[in-house]
Amino acid sequence: MVYILLAKEQRNYLHKYYASKFNFYTQLSAKKKLKFLYRVSVIKKTNRIKVADQIKHVIEDIELMISAAFAQITFGFTNYELRRFSKIILYPDSFYSKLAGEHVNGLTVGNGYIYLSWNHFLRGYRDSSDKVNLALHELAHALYIDKFHKEGSMVWYAWEEEALLVFNQISTRNEIDFFRPYAKTNMAEFWAVTVECFFEDPANFKSQFPALYQATAKLLKQDLLEKKCFFKRLSFIIPVIILFL
Ligand SMILES: [Zn+2]
Repeated sequence: MVYILLAKEQRNYLHKYYASKFNFYTQLSAKKKLKFLYRVSVIKKTNRIKVADQIKHVIEDIELMISAAFAQITFGFTNYELRRFSKIILYPDSFYSKLAGEHVNGLTVGNGYIYLSWNHFLRGYRDSSDKVNLALHELAHALYIDKFHKEGSMVWYAWEEEALLVFNQISTRNEIDFFRPYAKTNMAEFWAVTVECFFEDPANFKSQFPALYQATAKLLKQDLLEKKCFFKRLSFIIPVIILFL
């Protein structure tokens, strides 16, 4: 596939930006990096981001980072734009939500609005292995509403089956602490926390909950650990090499 719409200059600019700021991007192969940059530029054009006056001076960073979070969570999908959730409102920090009746860091509403604290958004990506990422959490809610809620896909049911087993385990056994306590709130929050864990600590996730990890990878249509399996790739190459010896 060729991504001809991205000019070399723009590509270089985006590459430099994400290579230093976005851990997910640095882990991608060269080919996938190109795919990511193309998608980011499309998402950036379609998202309608409204920012509070206090953070207007970092609008370029906000647009680039939010577009990247969208591209990350939908990276495995052919239809990667969450158009229904293209309206994003940014606050400098935690904010009061009338809907929730309290101060929150982020909120995803079924009418297509995502509200985020920029401070907490940045914290989520500053530490890419603490399994806390506000953007991925809220986008997981959006992804569920956009892609799985109405259709009730078989892949979602397969995920839910595995998830219920783990949800019951963590709800009754406090010694299992891989998922933070907030995951015990309900299945919707468990899903969102699972997505954070999937991206920020995939190796431990897979080793501790292999069936749920596989179901999550299948649902998100991507697996960060797959590319690391160098020998798996070699298994295709070696017979070819032997053939020509
Ligand atoms: Zn949530």
